[in-house]
Amino acid sequence: MSHTAEIIAVGTELLLGNIVNTNARDISQALSAVGVNVFWHTVVGDNPRRLKDALDVARKRADIIITTGGLGPTYDDLTKQTICEAFGKPLVLHQDILDDIRGYFERNVHMKMPSNNVQQAELPEGCTVFDNPVGTAPGCAFEAGGIHVLMLPGPPFEMLTMLKGHVVPYLRGLSSEVIVSHDIMTFGLGESPMEELMREKMSHMENPSLATYAKPSEVRLRATAKAASAEEAEAMLAPVVKDVTNFLGDYVYGVDVSSLEEVCFHLLKEKGLTFATAESCTGGRVAERITALPGASAVYRGGVVSYWTSVKADVLGVPADTLDAHGAVSEETARAMAEGARRITGADIAMSVTGVAGPDPDERGVPVGIVYIGLATPDGTFCRPLDLGKRRRDRIQDLSSNHAFDVLRRYLTGLPIKLS
Ligand code: ATP
Ligand code: MG
Repeated sequence: MSHTAEIIAVGTELLLGNIVNTNARDISQALSAVGVNVFWHTVVGDNPRRLKDALDVARKRADIIITTGGLGPTYDDLTKQTICEAFGKPLVLHQDILDDIRGYFERNVHMKMPSNNVQQAELPEGCTVFDNPVGTAPGCAFEAGGIHVLMLPGPPFEMLTMLKGHVVPYLRGLSSEVIVSHDIMTFGLGESPMEELMREKMSHMENPSLATYAKPSEVRLRATAKAASAEEAEAMLAPVVKDVTNFLGDYVYGVDVSSLEEVCFHLLKEKGLTFATAESCTGGRVAERITALPGASAVYRGGVVSYWTSVKADVLGVPADTLDAHGAVSEETARAMAEGARRITGADIAMSVTGVAGPDPDERGVPVGIVYIGLATPDGTFCRPLDLGKRRRDRIQDLSSNHAFDVLRRYLTGLPIKLS
């Protein structure tokens, strides 16, 4: 039987717009991966009467209700009490949880547990307890009249830890079916050309199913299979993943990988190559993305944000003739920047990005969206010229850094640098 879920985020801060409801997003993603349909997101303030109203609506239309927030020890943390009243469940003190919370305070906060934390050890009678290894408030789940109610803490890191450790296994346990999915990651085709290309294939597929999710210039194709066991689901997925990957060819940069930079990082590491950057219009975005990966120092030597022409000349050694003749935003300068970065860092490969992020054309009249990606390598220097069109400045910067990593992964896998 398929389940229908509603997520209720509790917190006045959410309604005031002080914080973004990232918990609902994260829970929805996790539920979609286990095949639970999320049909509603509700946000309600720290107000028992309105929470009660929200629960009354939710229990009529969903058989799984997941709340976040309001499990803390303060006067406005009323989720548990309100839910218990609504579902007629008494709250029971769990001595072992109280001991855990007391221990948490002594170990991590070096103080005696304040008395109002006692209420965090009170949970609905007969519930499944979700322990909280990274905070104090445990979560819990119970079933009443065919409805599963799950309560999770508000702080995102605590919520996420519990989501992975407890909620996903709990929900898997509700169904005899296993859902497995694989993500085929592509770069270079927009969502609508991708859909057009895939429409024929996708329209015939039910189980496994195939869905597209778009990010700027990237499309993730998720193949999902439902079966009685994980092995069976995997066996159903393998030919689909293979077929789609072959069909899309060079556009596919990986399966079940999180980003282009992660793919580049692993390729560089595998090949024992180091890498450096010289960035102008991206202002260090490429460097930031690679250094966000743990262990980046194994492959990344460093970079220069060469924003002024004088820095391109004086630090990277771009010849004055090149800058005079072609300008800072040109294929020639991109190549010279990459070669300069390679020379001064001693890296095996260096990448450069120079372009016009806007909102105005550059002083030579080069229009917004013109970008050049250079790549200096032991096999020579390459360049990908781009016309990204007139878009928002930050979109151009993000897209340019995406293209930069795509250039690198194409070089490292022996594919042509230029897009056809
Ligand atoms: P605590 O023990 O910290 O009081 P709690 O379970 O009572 O935890 P809340 O008091 O509702 O949770 O929220 C604590 C903090 O968690 C909020 O200040 C906010 O920063 C964050 N938070 C709460 N709900 C959400 C949400 N839906 N999305 C993102 N962050 C949230
Ligand atoms: Mg709180």
